[in-house]
Amino acid sequence: MDEVDLVVVGFGGAGAAAAITAHDAGATVVVLEKQAEGAHTPSTRMSGGLVMAADSAADGAAYLDACAGGMVPSDVTAAWAESATDVLDWLGKTAGLTFSRINIAEHPDLPGASGVGVFQPGEAAFRLDPSAGAGDALFAAVAAAVQERGIEIRWSTPAQRLIVEDGQVVGVATAAGEIRARRGVVLTCGGYEFDENLKRDNLRAYPVHFYGNPGNTGDGVRMAQAAGAGLWHMNTMIGRAIGHFPLDTAEGGWLNFIINIDPPGHVIVDRSGERYANETMQAQLLHGFYYEMLRYDYDRAEYSRIPSWWVFDERRRTAGPLTLSHIGAVKVGLYDWSPDNSAEIDRGWIARGSTVQEAAAAAGMEDPEALARTVAAYNAACAAGVDELGRAADTLVPLDSPPYYCVPLYPGGSNTCGGPVRDAGGRVLDPYDVPIRGLYAAGELGQPVGMLYPADGANLSEAFCFGRIAARTALSS
Ligand SMILES: Cc1cc2nc3c(=O)[nH]c(=O)nc-3n(C[C@H](O)[C@H](O)[C@H](O)COP(=O)(O)OP(=O)(O)OC[C@H]3O[C@@H](n4cnc5c(N)ncnc54)[C@H](O)[C@@H]3O)c2cc1C
Repeated sequence: MDEVDLVVVGFGGAGAAAAITAHDAGATVVVLEKQAEGAHTPSTRMSGGLVMAADSAADGAAYLDACAGGMVPSDVTAAWAESATDVLDWLGKTAGLTFSRINIAEHPDLPGASGVGVFQPGEAAFRLDPSAGAGDALFAAVAAAVQERGIEIRWSTPAQRLIVEDGQVVGVATAAGEIRARRGVVLTCGGYEFDENLKRDNLRAYPVHFYGNPGNTGDGVRMAQAAGAGLWHMNTMIGRAIGHFPLDTAEGGWLNFIINIDPPGHVIVDRSGERYANETMQAQLLHGFYYEMLRYDYDRAEYSRIPSWWVFDERRRTAGPLTLSHIGAVKVGLYDWSPDNSAEIDRGWIARGSTVQEAAAAAGMEDPEALARTVAAYNAACAAGVDELGRAADTLVPLDSPPYYCVPLYPGGSNTCGGPVRDAGGRVLDPYDVPIRGLYAAGELGQPVGMLYPADGANLSEAFCFGRIAARTALSS
């Protein structure tokens, strides 16, 4: 039987940080990864590569606390904030990455926000240079740091269960056999973005879809639960409106995409064809639009905004792909989106019509005339330069260049946040808040994010910070 000091389950950003930290402290480490080496698409790799960092631990903690809305103990946010003050230095020293500051915190009016920044690898502006800032390059650098150290990665080796003896986690069972872990196991195997039961039973609405790693199927939630862990934040996720499209019958399945509704010339409507929120939130890829999509219609016994419909005209169709091609499914080769969206029109993902009514009918909307009335009202608002939902005048571009298009949008996003409860040292706790000896967690599996996503880059920040914290705790316990 194999035996090492630390077993790390899942090779994404959090797993890489835990493995490197433990190795550099002199421990023997094995990383188990369920995907094959040639088909490895951790969300870290699919991401935009943005990393949130804190100028000071005090500001960072104040801000993270405010965003958490009471869902995260303050010693946990304090530990993250402390680690976020040197996370960029660590990535620089470990993986040779340099960063440039590109944005501020997502909620600039909350306490401590001015002490938090969003950074991308390299120098170019994220939106201006689509090749810049992508997580593919960031993960390649971090993965190279793991491999240069000779840390063993076992590909195509999903962890199946934790081995628990006398209440202590002492190893991991895989189909290929058991691996003992003298100092513990760190779960870094992502969220439950692709587990329908966990999503249906825990998230605030259903259905909800995600555009990250299809391999993140909630294995860590089940393994931790079976080992006696308490769960937290199971209703929390990083959300926005996203695309969810069927592959044809031969290929089977569905693909999910981050959606770029810009440039202006768009409305988003509910199932009845009514606008309900300022679309600029979605256009700016902020995370608030997700909350707007959750309304449940008590009279009709349905989520009236799932799906919502994005309506645009020929100007947007010719302005470039509806998704961001430098991240997500396109970047890692799961799908090749056509530059002019023609292939996706042919697939039926984008419904088209010479009038708004025709596009709505082609999409299967229940009341095409209602949508036409909404678009007429929107066009009148564009002419007046005043929008009832508060859109700025320079975003009020009319929909008057046929043909017209209609695309379903779902609440969704990059990742879930729920998972095993952890303390400030990354120890997994049981339902009575007692640490389970030998069990640690980091990354989006049980990440300490509450009501508001703090900033672009918060997920990766958390993954790298808590990956390091959990490994250090394991080796010092
Ligand atoms: C398109 C996109 C853009 C994003 N952009 C950003 C951004 O710019 N900044 C930011 O902060 N966040 C971003 N995110 C979110 C961020 O990428 C993730 O939350 C973060 O990378 C999670 O890291 P992780 O290590 O926890 O999980 P992952 O990186 O997903 O790694 C988990 C690994 O565990 C493996 N695994 C799963 N189950 C098992 C098992 N049973 N046994 C062994 N291995 C297993 C998976 O295959 C995977 O390789 C983005 C996400 C997406 C999808």
